[in-house]
Amino acid sequence: MVANFNVYCALCSGCLVSFCDIGSSSPRHLTIRRARVARRTYSRRRGELYYETDDESEEEKVARLEALPWLREVAEADDNSSDTDSIGDPEDDLGYDPELVADSELMWLNEVFALGIAHREPGPRRYFISECFYYDRVYHYDPDEQSRYFAYGVSDLPDPPVFPMHAGCVDILSRAILGVVDVAGIRKEVLYDVMHELADFCRLDLKYGDITGADQDWQCVPGEEYSVICPTDPLDLAELLRSNYAANIPGAQKSLDLGGKVIRDPFRILPIEMIHHILGYLPGESIFALNKASCTVNTRTSNNQFWKRRLVQDMPWFWELQAYLAESQDGAHDYKALYMWLDRRTKPMYAMSGAFMGVANRRRIWGPCSELAGRYYDRLHAEGDGRVLSL
Ligand SMILES: [Zn+2]
Repeated sequence: MVANFNVYCALCSGCLVSFCDIGSSSPRHLTIRRARVARRTYSRRRGELYYETDDESEEEKVARLEALPWLREVAEADDNSSDTDSIGDPEDDLGYDPELVADSELMWLNEVFALGIAHREPGPRRYFISECFYYDRVYHYDPDEQSRYFAYGVSDLPDPPVFPMHAGCVDILSRAILGVVDVAGIRKEVLYDVMHELADFCRLDLKYGDITGADQDWQCVPGEEYSVICPTDPLDLAELLRSNYAANIPGAQKSLDLGGKVIRDPFRILPIEMIHHILGYLPGESIFALNKASCTVNTRTSNNQFWKRRLVQDMPWFWELQAYLAESQDGAHDYKALYMWLDRRTKPMYAMSGAFMGVANRRRIWGPCSELAGRYYDRLHAEGDGRVLSL
């Protein structure tokens, strides 16, 4: 007998129904859960999957606790619990942190579409992206029992599979492909072929980021709450910048002139066009690292407009930011500082919390969506469709 496995969203690898366990809010359970998350955060930084407290010296324990934001709670729980990964204890109360995610925030998980082929309608119009109802790997295109489709590659039915996706994730995919939300504008037959090529057992063969919930059943892993926060809920960025950013980031700082102290800088002999060409291949955090190593690069990237362009180029998934930049006056911000601040807060991270969780989830989902968009255009070009311009 073959065990039952869940299937997951083709775009985010998330669960397709909101059967998520929200953990208890009792102080003891909160403490135990957060202690576990804290220990895993620490072990991940060391490149280990799990943390074994048995191997820990007192010095290591002090160093670990000092690196944690909720030091006091963790220290308290550390004295009462042993292994971080034992799931057997019912008192552990696994599930999401109730202060990070509420049941009401999970409704978006229930709104599921599927891309498929309506087998009883011949011709190119038979491809559909339509609301579907999920039951044990089977999707119902309509309430008619005859219209049943299996998801992904494993099927007892002769019909081609469907690919389930959250409605919100489909909007993100549409933006990655077309630049706007226009699901009807996507060539479904092309997208279907792209997905079919990548079909795995319960999702697509894509990089969905550092999340581990998609197991045989969906696991509500403490520390991965951001992965179930709605990625398309709009963020009031202007308000966050007023209340949060302005209070923590000082105004633009003048760069120090260190040119006279540099002994050797290989970038000094390169033409400025070449430097900008190289920078075009680097993500922002690599440019920050390079700035520390090269005075020339630091000077070339000290222009405020350079960082405004990088905000536009590097954060296409942050449409609230794009709208904000289009309206904001030049000189209103130190864009380099803004880049650093937003890049850090929107980075999908185990154990993250706060107002940017949804946008971080969107940024995570943008990865597989842009991979699909690239393959979509490759396929269109291969078909010689001259009308299509790659974004
Ligand atoms: Zn999804």
